[in-house]
Amino acid sequence: MPIRVLAPEVSSKIAAGEVVERPASVVKELVENAVDAGATEVAVEITGGGIESIRVTDNGKGIPADEMELALHRFATSKVSRIEDLDAIATLGFRGEALASIAAVAEVSLASRPPDAQSGSRLEAREGVVGRVHPHGVAVGTTVTVRHLFRDFPARRKFLRSPAAEAGRIQGMVSRLALAYPEVRWQLVADGKEALATGGSGDLREAFGEVYDAEIARQMLALEPQPSSPTLGVEGRGLGVVVTGLIGPPSVTRANRSYITFFVNRRWVQSRTLGFALEQAYHGFLQEHRYPVAVVNVAVPPDQVDVNVHPAKSEVRFRYEDRVFAAVQQAVRRTLTQHAPVPEATDRIQAPNPILQTPGSGGLGMGSGETPRPMGVAAFWPTEMLDKASQPSAPSQPAMPAHHDAPSVEHAALRAAQPTPPHTPKGALPVLRVLGQVQNTYVVAEGPDGMYLVDQHAAHERVLFERVRALARDRAPEAQALLEPVVLELDARLQELVDGRLELLASMGFALEQFGATAYLLRGVPGVMGGGGDPRQGFVDVLDLMADGGGFESWEERAAYSVACHSAIRAGKVLTMQEMAELARLLEACEQPHTCPHGRPTMVHMSASHLEREFGRR
Ligand code: ADP
Ligand code: MG
Repeated sequence: MPIRVLAPEVSSKIAAGEVVERPASVVKELVENAVDAGATEVAVEITGGGIESIRVTDNGKGIPADEMELALHRFATSKVSRIEDLDAIATLGFRGEALASIAAVAEVSLASRPPDAQSGSRLEAREGVVGRVHPHGVAVGTTVTVRHLFRDFPARRKFLRSPAAEAGRIQGMVSRLALAYPEVRWQLVADGKEALATGGSGDLREAFGEVYDAEIARQMLALEPQPSSPTLGVEGRGLGVVVTGLIGPPSVTRANRSYITFFVNRRWVQSRTLGFALEQAYHGFLQEHRYPVAVVNVAVPPDQVDVNVHPAKSEVRFRYEDRVFAAVQQAVRRTLTQHAPVPEATDRIQAPNPILQTPGSGGLGMGSGETPRPMGVAAFWPTEMLDKASQPSAPSQPAMPAHHDAPSVEHAALRAAQPTPPHTPKGALPVLRVLGQVQNTYVVAEGPDGMYLVDQHAAHERVLFERVRALARDRAPEAQALLEPVVLELDARLQELVDGRLELLASMGFALEQFGATAYLLRGVPGVMGGGGDPRQGFVDVLDLMADGGGFESWEERAAYSVACHSAIRAGKVLTMQEMAELARLLEACEQPHTCPHGRPTMVHMSASHLEREFGRR
């Protein structure tokens, strides 16, 4: 579409703000424009940390001469036009304010030529004054040059760091784009020296090697295609969350989180939810205070994610956060349990090395590598799970369920390829395949070694208990704001419970304020309590459970337990297969999946050998 000034009712819906904070933010806006223009080559040249000059050249679709002036106009964009467009943003830019904001604080020169134009045009803006458009001979594409950033804004300049530090930030920024768009040839030249160059092959592993380190790139694990799941898998059905990317094996770790990169629909984001999901999945694989290396793209249907939250667009809001969380955590966990540890050289038959397989052609792309997984025991569960299941009863025996027909060659090969000893985190649950529900209370599932009956309430209680506690520990409780705050008059007993515990309750997600002498105003409840139900009743229930204590010593545990117990799925509730699968996955991620917060079992396991004995097969 042509560039147009957004109607005020559209622009007012956009999270406005100053997008130009430092040279790296200028570079970000310019390279994102290049990507939006479909460029396959993007070159960034900077001098003096970008404070002196930044030039971004692309070979994208260019700007027609008669739209050049508009491009520098605030809220002029070719990417959205209607309010509805804001609900499903498919481009990196959409506010139409970047070029205008940059022109307000620096000298900008814009030169461009669309592929079908005879010649190009050029436009300069200085001290916020936009000049005239001149014909100009240029190659197809666009070049934006930004000089003397903040020269006339000493107050803003004060916040800049040294040129070297600013150059470092720019390099980080371009590196992230290079990982998000491996099909683009990227080049960064700083003060005449090439700081980054990628080949644009479209292969994420290659781009990773060019950005970081070729040897680490070789060791990275490609996130396995997800098994078709109604909740998480197949596009068109369910929610269509597709997680792709590369994650480091447990042997490759870093002392901080700076090697963890997330993209949502190929937009770089900072997200606690995603970070937490990743770290949960690595739980038990890494030592404390060690962090993985990862580049992960989460493809979400554009209408299920809001990028219009923050002016820098580096924060997003998911419509179904829990499911995105589960999808990431599952994808990472599955890949780790299948590949870790990196197989050591053995005299056994080598399995095809998954590390050397490249991800689907589009790199981080759109999750095209989705292949339906063959069912059947050997294919469904990773081989290390099968071996693990045999321990400790008979470590030397493969734990294949006894097939009464001759063992197939394929199974023998799988066993032979089994890397030495399987590394599965302590307490971890194997991948469970949900089969159904009994008495609307127990979930029946199959695992690598037999059958599992899971108590839905106890299991969910465990899941919520760990989640609420972890969020409280991180001081990041999920609070769901109430549309209408509720005034609570509490009796003396409850009053005493609440008194002095506002902070504890807040750490659970209760947004509570003193309201007069004896009343409180409840503005929000813990996210896990969900939207349904009467918030007043819910709050009082939780207080009652807390008063009861549930046998816990600490108030922190009491509170977490009370929220979990109140919110967990009840026995007697009919669950869909999808909900049960979700529950199994969440349970799998728990630190102590086998027991409810009170130590009662969440599940009963009937091993394959137990079943065999019961049926007189051995
Ligand atoms: P936005 O990206 O939010 O639309 P910008 O101010 O960054 O806003 O850009 C304004 C408009 O200028 C874009 O919508 C686009 O039409 C055009 N434009 C900017 N940079 C480029 C480029 N490198 N190639 C082609 N068109 C561009
Ligand atoms: Mg833009």
